Amino acid sequence: MTFQPLAEIADIGRDRELGGWSRHLLDPADRALREWFVGRAQELGLQTEVDANANIWAWWGEPGPDSVVTGSHLDSVPGGGAFDGPLGVVSALEAVGRLRSTGFVPRRPLAVVAMAEEEGSRFSVACLGSKLLSGALPAERALGLRDRDGFSLAETLDRAGLAPERAGRDPGALSRIGLFVELHVEQGRGLIELDSPVGLASNILGHGRWRLVFDGEGNHAGATRMQDRRDPMVAAAATVAAIPAVAMAHPGSRATVGRVRAVPGGTNVIASRVEVFLDARAEDDLLTRRLVHEITELAAARAAENGCSSRLVEDSWLPTVHFDPAVREGLADALAPGFGTVPVLPTGAGHDAGVLSEYVPTAMIFVRNPSGVSHAPAEWASAEDCWAGVDALTAVLTAHLAAR
Ligand SMILES: [Zn+2]
Repeated sequence: MTFQPLAEIADIGRDRELGGWSRHLLDPADRALREWFVGRAQELGLQTEVDANANIWAWWGEPGPDSVVTGSHLDSVPGGGAFDGPLGVVSALEAVGRLRSTGFVPRRPLAVVAMAEEEGSRFSVACLGSKLLSGALPAERALGLRDRDGFSLAETLDRAGLAPERAGRDPGALSRIGLFVELHVEQGRGLIELDSPVGLASNILGHGRWRLVFDGEGNHAGATRMQDRRDPMVAAAATVAAIPAVAMAHPGSRATVGRVRAVPGGTNVIASRVEVFLDARAEDDLLTRRLVHEITELAAARAAENGCSSRLVEDSWLPTVHFDPAVREGLADALAPGFGTVPVLPTGAGHDAGVLSEYVPTAMIFVRNPSGVSHAPAEWASAEDCWAGVDALTAVLTAHLAAR
């Protein structure tokens, strides 16, 4: 049995080459999903608006202070799964649909939100919509970001009919949020082990993205003798091969290279530069810093051995997020009648809720993922558990909208 609300959008953005789905900010798939979201929200009688940072809001009641906001994102990683992001959006629509069909009268405004570019797959900054909205990322830095085809974020917003000059910190939108709840498929095995369909987030491990840049000498693949080379690809490969051992020396930490870029990138050309994209996380922020430091030293050593130089560029960094225990307890109370004691667990994955938690009361609900896989086509949640997630979100919204 499939979870019908997600089946509705299953054909949008399928990636025949990578498998799974590829939906990136304002590309044709993302635009189709955004249109679908607006249509579904309007069918529910919600008023939709797109803010200056491409986030879409669907309002029940007059937008204003102390609103309850729920939702997630519609974009994906390249070749991602069906649940990461859209599950939180469709569950929010389902929960609102249920409340409206029972004649429930909210005492606070409610918005369902679809945040823009959470995965950072197009412009390489995760949680772009929430970082711009909150001011965590200044617009002047973001607008010049370029995608792989060379289009800037400013051009992309402009082409979509959004005014790039308005992008950035949006105190009005932020001040309306009285509570933000993001429902999300779990991205690990925590709820399998705890034997529960849903859980609440305690914290998000600190994480970041770095680039190890190796500079060598571009030259001819045929005319350059092996001993005369300064090949940054060899230095980069040796570094990547040694990274797992560095990470495994710090139990619980993770270091991943999922992307490498060679310049100029020709088969018969020794690269002049290679960029290795690093994602690193650990139990605490000091340890993450140490891990990245050790990998940087490793890179420098391998670069020197190959007559190259290396340097580290920090593309993003989010320290550990601790969700407010009082907000979480409010959700736990709302869930108790239907779910009993709901487990509380950390996550290693970043979320818009993590960005927003610095500014507004924020909580997260996780839905069990029996595959334990995420950011890949095998990512999964049973229809039964997805519906349990809708039940949980409905209970939380009911409790928070009935009182102010
Ligand atoms: Zn997500």
